[in-house]
Amino acid sequence: MGRIFNFAAGPAILPEPVLEQAAREMLDWHGCGTSVMEMSHRGDEFIGIAAAAEADLRELMAIPANYKVLFLQGGATLQFAAIPMNLLRGKKSADYVNTGEWSKKAIKEAKRYCAVNVVASSEDKNFTYAPKQQGWKLDADAAYVHVCTNETIGGVEFHWVPDTGGVPLVADMSSHILSRPVDVSKYALIYAGAQKNIGPAGLTIVIVRDDLVGNALPTTPSVLDYKAQAEADSMLNTPATYSVYIAGLVFQWLKKLGGLGKMHELNVAKARVLYDYLDQTEFYFSPVAMDDRSLMNVPFRLKNEALDKEFLKQAKARGLDQLKGHRSVGGMRASIYNAMPIEGVKALVEFMREFQANHG
Ligand code: PMP
Repeated sequence: MGRIFNFAAGPAILPEPVLEQAAREMLDWHGCGTSVMEMSHRGDEFIGIAAAAEADLRELMAIPANYKVLFLQGGATLQFAAIPMNLLRGKKSADYVNTGEWSKKAIKEAKRYCAVNVVASSEDKNFTYAPKQQGWKLDADAAYVHVCTNETIGGVEFHWVPDTGGVPLVADMSSHILSRPVDVSKYALIYAGAQKNIGPAGLTIVIVRDDLVGNALPTTPSVLDYKAQAEADSMLNTPATYSVYIAGLVFQWLKKLGGLGKMHELNVAKARVLYDYLDQTEFYFSPVAMDDRSLMNVPFRLKNEALDKEFLKQAKARGLDQLKGHRSVGGMRASIYNAMPIEGVKALVEFMREFQANHG
């Protein structure tokens, strides 16, 4: 079987040239006679791979020099705890914006460490929009403000940067990091699990401003302490070496493509193909508010839900896989991350048209 178009939300599609390079380098990385998986993380080869990955990420995202870049493990989920542990700095509460399933999980975990004020929420409309800044009830004394800037399940994306008036802004960018340029200086901390736009699962990236490092609660495990990890170049313990290597190849692929500005252009064009179609048919619809639609995760529904199963079965037979929506919301979801070519989205829309013609 050839390669399918994989619309999974994560672990997700990776760029083919990256997989091909990894395959070529599998048995013998650059003449050293072993694969990257078999290398010591303390050896010059791997230290070089990790340093190049960090340098390329810094260049791609234009990360200012006063930010640490950490390559950690435990997923974004572990950061839900690590963030209050590191950022409370003696304060008693943190502000959270609740825009969906991932915000809710972050809130639940943070409550183990501090008082959480939910300063805005879109729960009233089933998490189908991003609450406008005017309605946020921010607390000037909060340790930080947490936002999930792209809700992977609901398909809601912030296309603007919240203004928190000097309170550190923390963003879970797991499902749209590297999809467009970001002004890192507007954020105190950005974090993301790798398995969507970065590389394989197992790697978590944290980008954190210097002045917020070094205040972890005394009970914080060392591997979660940003200061300890920064001082150890993210190698306080054995890092996810192979995931770091593949992430590095993805960064090189993005640089060759023309960087995040170019990537964003391609993502806009790709998403438009799907949203334009969704908006012109009665057969399917997008539940998400027009201004807040994600370029990466596109949930959509069939008006007649009785056809969902048949839709998924026929799509799969056509090599269009992993389109089932998250169990908490149902329907369909197409994740169209950086590595999804526009041909994949066009093939999906062509199938959707045919399916409509046969069942509409
Ligand atoms: N935040 C967001 C926005 C996510 O999409 C996910 C994973 N789908 C997570 C957090 C949790 O990530 P992990 O499974 O890597 O802990």
